[in-house]
Amino acid sequence: MEYIVGADIGGTWIRVAICPIDLKIDNIISKVTNTPKENEFSISNTIISLLTQLLVENNIEKDQLLGIGIASAGPLNLETGEVFNNANLGFKEIPLKKPIQDRFPEIPIYLINDGNASVLAIHYFEADDDEKDDLVYITMSTGIGGGVICDGRLLLGKDGNAAEIGHGIVNRHSNFQCNCGAFGCWEVYSSGTGIKNRALEAIKTSTLSSRILMFMIDNDESKIAAKEIFQAARGGDKFSKSIVEQCVFYTKVGVGLVNNFYDCSSIYFGGAMMKDSDLILPPLIEQFSTEPILFTINHPPRLKKTNYLDEIGLMGALTLVKYKLEGNQILA
Ligand SMILES: [Zn+2]
Repeated sequence: MEYIVGADIGGTWIRVAICPIDLKIDNIISKVTNTPKENEFSISNTIISLLTQLLVENNIEKDQLLGIGIASAGPLNLETGEVFNNANLGFKEIPLKKPIQDRFPEIPIYLINDGNASVLAIHYFEADDDEKDDLVYITMSTGIGGGVICDGRLLLGKDGNAAEIGHGIVNRHSNFQCNCGAFGCWEVYSSGTGIKNRALEAIKTSTLSSRILMFMIDNDESKIAAKEIFQAARGGDKFSKSIVEQCVFYTKVGVGLVNNFYDCSSIYFGGAMMKDSDLILPPLIEQFSTEPILFTINHPPRLKKTNYLDEIGLMGALTLVKYKLEGNQILA
């Protein structure tokens, strides 16, 4: 039997999976570990080690492998096979392709930005036929990122970093600086980190009651994170509700921009914040079904949540290999 390999590199977790080339969801076998940050080779070494374990445990030989797909948090340099300037991975330049290629010399290796990988996974595993050609994936997690399929093609850009949508500036006059250096990026307001920072900032001066929130966190402001804000908002905490409202408002702005730029049929949302999707998606869906014109001039897209919150990047890395080997037009 022939197999394909996928790896997904994030700020916290590295996942590696192996699957027969037919890529059925039930046949994916994966391993996960914390992302190491000792030196610039620790990530590639971890991938090699997890893959080697998978091969040994499942009695698979190297020569049964058809290809390795690597999805990583960006920015990527597809030419050199490196990640550069990533705020969460610890080093200015991280070589990915070469060290792995040295250990698996006969096997083609394909590198992709994790947002772009994820939209491939949605395309293969989840999307309906009538939404496949114009499809967007948006991840709301530590940051905000995405991937875009437009007119049946995956958009990559010159270095492979198209669709860095979280760094779209949604408030030109903002005093809040993003990790990227700009002020007023969408993820400054609507990512998990953004919600935490906005709450810590606002609680100093807000006149809204934060009684429920403060009770939940034992009056210890250092315990404020997105999860607590959502939970307190659900319980009726006025301060927390205002932070969630701000997150949702700027997500409407972001979704409107995405739809203006790409005229998409559907947007799938994923990422850790979708564990609180009950407070994010209904107001978005309501806005874009009743009064889309306030945020987008194009016909509004369908807004959905992916069923694969933690594994979508890994599934995308596997899909990339399958589509490459098949010569799928989406990558043409
Ligand atoms: Zn930014």
